[in-house]
Amino acid sequence: TEEYWGNVNPIGLRSMYDEAKRFSEALTFAYHRRHGVAIRVVRIFNTYGPRMQPDDGRVVSNFITQALRGEALTIYGDGSQTRSFCYVEDEVRGFLALLDSGQSGPINIGNPGEFTMLELADLVNELTGNTAGIVFEPLPSDDPKQRKPDISLAEDLLGWSPVIDLRTGLERTIASFVAVLGV
Ligand code: UDP
Repeated sequence: TEEYWGNVNPIGLRSMYDEAKRFSEALTFAYHRRHGVAIRVVRIFNTYGPRMQPDDGRVVSNFITQALRGEALTIYGDGSQTRSFCYVEDEVRGFLALLDSGQSGPINIGNPGEFTMLELADLVNELTGNTAGIVFEPLPSDDPKQRKPDISLAEDLLGWSPVIDLRTGLERTIASFVAVLGV
């Protein structure tokens, strides 16, 4: 929920990323309070879709690129960790709904569907027809075990909820990667 205060390792491998998000919220709210600036704070959750950089290192882009090249998908750790993936069009629709509302936030804009990385890998291999399977690699430190947004607030205040499920979103993303990678 939006009540979460963000308990992160301040000096770990991901700290510049985690703390930058926290600091951005702090800075934005300080401007709001001090200078009356109209603000919107949105919390996003693993957004994906066409026009991702194939080599940005995130799991959806890695898996699709590997699958389209006929390589095994690299699962970090045992693959039991979960993420909730939001298709970019849903995400942007949520942003616009928040902009048009009188709300400042923070408000979660994400897809509550929760998948393990093993499930994601199986789905990507199925949708691409990749038969190279999966390989396991070490889990990076401070890798979150679970992520699933509670979007009750967005539903109640904005009338927003995501409509593109993971399978549909991945099909569209894979098609765009085929064009970009020329495979
Ligand atoms: N991950 C993976 N294989 C990859 C890239 C990432 O198994 O090739 C895992 C990663 O360890 C994490 C999850 O997938 O548990 C999501 O990683 P990503 O970097 O996409 O997003 P974040 O960790 O910031 O949610």
